Amino acid sequence: MNRRPFIKKIFQVSGGAYLGAQLPLMYGYSPIEKDKKLGVALVGLGNYATGQLAPALLESKYCYLAGIVTGTKAKESVWSEKYNIPKNNIYNYDNFDDIFNNSDIDIVYVVLPNSMHAEYTIRAAKAGKHVICEKPMATSVEDCKKMIAACEKAKRKLSIGYRLHFDPFNDQMMRLGQNRVFGKMNMKSGFAFNLSDPNRWRIKKSMAGGGPLMDLGIYCLQGSIYTFGELPLSLWAKNLTRNHDFFSEVEGTIEWEMTFPSGKAYCITSYEDRYGYLTANTEKGELKLSPAFIYSGLKGTTPNGSMNVKPINQQAAQIDAFAVNILKNSASLVSGEMGLRDNYIIEKIYESAKNDGAEVSLKDIPNILDLRKD
Ligand code: NAD
Repeated sequence: MNRRPFIKKIFQVSGGAYLGAQLPLMYGYSPIEKDKKLGVALVGLGNYATGQLAPALLESKYCYLAGIVTGTKAKESVWSEKYNIPKNNIYNYDNFDDIFNNSDIDIVYVVLPNSMHAEYTIRAAKAGKHVICEKPMATSVEDCKKMIAACEKAKRKLSIGYRLHFDPFNDQMMRLGQNRVFGKMNMKSGFAFNLSDPNRWRIKKSMAGGGPLMDLGIYCLQGSIYTFGELPLSLWAKNLTRNHDFFSEVEGTIEWEMTFPSGKAYCITSYEDRYGYLTANTEKGELKLSPAFIYSGLKGTTPNGSMNVKPINQQAAQIDAFAVNILKNSASLVSGEMGLRDNYIIEKIYESAKNDGAEVSLKDIPNILDLRKD
């Protein structure tokens, strides 16, 4: 099947501007035909790509799984059969850059260990592809800047895998919190799971960049920011690791508190425990998501009772939102700059923890917020 549709050709020639203007008339944002969908290539076929992203792409309105990049030969035929991926759209880490010549692939989705995000995002941009990069965006602010610059230079869009910005429960939290529907508030958030496999890249500093803060705590800092709808001004942090033998390279547990213009957010994250909540203690009572950060089964309560929210496939919604950004030539809600903002905060949390909880200013924080004040 020749799936190089006329419509995508127009995009590539015009950088999306022409079609962006036409989109509401042409599609009305309803599902588009398969041969007009944008092709996504998943890079790294681990747990998240296998369990969540590939199935989500089957539910996507604007994208489909067009290609894969894997270092494991055995996965090629399995994925090819399951998702009907032609041989020409299967790459490994050595020939990845040849994706430049593949017009089936519009978006490269980087789902590799954290330390590899920067390299593959930059290579994808150089190959002329739009990029979704998983969280954390990178293992340093410096790398985030390089990734943004590479995408800007290539005139390609960059977005971070922050699926919860597209989740209806977290959307409620943003709207109720940002509009101070229940008055002033202070926040508490925690995210933890038990990690006991010593061979996982997640506990190796060179691969993960850090411990649960990079992996799970990032949801707590995101949740606090998007519920306040403000940027934090300063923070303190302490390393609370219990098993120092096991967590010899990265923290096992860490706590921090951010001061916002209108309140505080205390956060904790761990690989030595199990919890996941986002709570605002408001003047009228508790506004809370628990569980807050997982893929399904979220529950929300407000001082007035349970949130009445219909769950959706978070990943499909996140990917579709990016496709619409490409099709309309609009900005991503979860941009590279937002990823950089969070890596900046993470660096400051580690800086404070190293200095046993000393207060650290966030005066250079990038001014990026997802505001839902309507
Ligand atoms: P994983 O270990 O299951 O998968 C990683 C993949 O990278 C594997 O297929 C592995 O073969 C491949 N890989 C390539 N080179 C590698 C190397 N040198 N060392 C180790 N693996 C290598 O991890 P995962 O849970 O799928 O996480 C991948 C990324 O996705 C991480 O950045 C993580 O933070 C992110 N993630 C995001 C969410 C989310 O909800 N947004 C959920 C889970 C993971």
